[in-house]
Amino acid sequence: MITYEEFTQNLANVQLRMAEACVAANRAVGSVRLLPVTKNHPIDAVHYAYQSGLTAVGENRVQEAAGKCAQDAVSPVEWELIGHLQSNKTKEAVAIFDRIQSVDSIKLLKRLDRQAGELGKCLPILLQCNTGEDPNKYGFRVAEMGAALDAALQLDHLQVDGLMTIAPLDDDLDVASAAFDRLRELRDHLSERFSVALPELSMGMTGDLDVAIAAGSTQIRVGTALYGSRGY
Ligand SMILES: *Cc1c(COP(=O)(O)O)cnc(C)c1O
Repeated sequence: MITYEEFTQNLANVQLRMAEACVAANRAVGSVRLLPVTKNHPIDAVHYAYQSGLTAVGENRVQEAAGKCAQDAVSPVEWELIGHLQSNKTKEAVAIFDRIQSVDSIKLLKRLDRQAGELGKCLPILLQCNTGEDPNKYGFRVAEMGAALDAALQLDHLQVDGLMTIAPLDDDLDVASAAFDRLRELRDHLSERFSVALPELSMGMTGDLDVAIAAGSTQIRVGTALYGSRGY
């Protein structure tokens, strides 16, 4: 695990990249939020983020996040789930996470709604869309998104904040850029068709955050550039 000093230097570098990407895209610096991804790092990663003013963290596994939440004196951050959720883990996920970004099936929508209802809460979610049509990625297909949003809007205990995507793994940034443009266009289309605001576009990671910001990202999810490699 890196030191806090190394972390603050990495954070400054990421914030500079974000600011430069905003300026290049004629967007207000500060219109993009940084979600530090603490998966596969110890609880210190969460403390580092909180100490430097970041108030939410991303985790991709329910079990790992549960373990971190259960530790003593854990920083009071919001927890966002960004990894695929198995339907037998929805109960625990709803109890732990403040938002679930990786909702990728109608079955999952229904289970999350039921569990949130049982806890008497309204759970913020994002619908994950596989806009890059990557066979290795989870997410609704673009053609399924209308039905997915329609279903989500009928559920009382879920609140759809927007959309999320993960670009296909590809050295060519144009591939990521196209996937991000597609998510923004899809959001614009769905927002008009269903007359709902879908303000959040969660897209961009260490390797492609600059093109994501150019395409309209409102939240980038960054692990490696902040904490170093995860060793897998
Ligand atoms: C791990 C992960 C990230 C962060 O990836 P880095 O390349 O380390 O910045 C972002 N989003 C999701 C969904 C992830 O699983």
